[in-house]
Amino acid sequence: MGGTKGTDMDKCNANGCCNHLAERLGDGGKGFQAFHTVKRDSNEARFLGVAYKTSAKDKGLLLNWCPFCGGKPGYFERDKDMTLNV
Ligand SMILES: [Zn+2]
Repeated sequence: MGGTKGTDMDKCNANGCCNHLAERLGDGGKGFQAFHTVKRDSNEARFLGVAYKTSAKDKGLLLNWCPFCGGKPGYFERDKDMTLNV
């Protein structure tokens, strides 16, 4: 069978996060949450990074590195011309 790797990622980078982190992302409540930005000129949504929230009301704290793979998920590679769209 083999199974191609496809979009699977084993390391966090500017475009997304690794499988381990991706599998643990939540849907807005507590825990790891993915954040995206929208580019002003094109309205294009892009990956900003991953934050950890202690509760649904917590704003969250962006991870500057991934605890699973040691990579940098998004944020630090991003353009300045971005607005936060949470
Ligand atoms: Zn990772």
